[in-house]
Amino acid sequence: MWRNVLVVFAALIIGNRPLMSGLTREGVDAFSEMRRQMVETQIQRRGIKDERVLNAMLKVPRHEFVPTVEKLLAYTDGPLPIGHGQTISQPYIVALMTELLHLEPRDKVFEVGTGSGYQAAVLAELAEEVYTIEILEPLYQHAKTTLEKLGYRNIHTRFGDGTKGWPEAAPFDKMIVTAAGIKVPEALVDQLKEGGRIVMPVGEEEQVLVVGEKRKGILQTHETIPVRFVPLVEEEK
Ligand code: SAH
Repeated sequence: MWRNVLVVFAALIIGNRPLMSGLTREGVDAFSEMRRQMVETQIQRRGIKDERVLNAMLKVPRHEFVPTVEKLLAYTDGPLPIGHGQTISQPYIVALMTELLHLEPRDKVFEVGTGSGYQAAVLAELAEEVYTIEILEPLYQHAKTTLEKLGYRNIHTRFGDGTKGWPEAAPFDKMIVTAAGIKVPEALVDQLKEGGRIVMPVGEEEQVLVVGEKRKGILQTHETIPVRFVPLVEEEK
């Protein structure tokens, strides 16, 4: 972390630019250097190989998705608070979940738990359309503004309960749930295409990242690694 902080300050001194622009006169972007280090040391080293995923992680400006006081920590190896008791996931977990989705350029993807909007932006680099839903209104509003400011036109945001899916936009090729539930919600299985994939943390105290594939109408699942996510809020039916 201190190395990253030093890189930023060095860049600022050389470039004599305002703190958050991250640009130096030489055109070296301090934040892109931090992203390069993040991808190399946190993501590739832990075994993520998909070039498209690595490129998306190199491209999306994670510091734009965290509160101002956290910007210098945006590329560190862990989750960060984004307000309202929620967190932006650790970069490695974002990369892993994205890789596990096996995204294709023409895919229509559904995300439950927009949070900061960062994961949605990574998905939007790799798929055709992203539909993302958030249950906390201030987070929804903030993420929508961030994504618009960054120019993402293939991300559709909505305020509401994602466990019910997004029926008007269904069916989806891929789905990602970024909060933990006790099981994959039925509505999501219904709105997933045949042959589609879903990645979701399942469990309460002990959680595991589950990958599901819909075959002949049934979700076939397998477990990957243990994880720790905020709980999925499930509204009364
Ligand atoms: N993907 C986010 C991190 C999400 S943290 C990012 O990249 O920043 C999990 C988010 O899921 C929180 O913002 C939480 O409010 C939201 N959430 C929890 N239950 C939900 C539900 N039922 N529907 C939609 N969003 C939900």
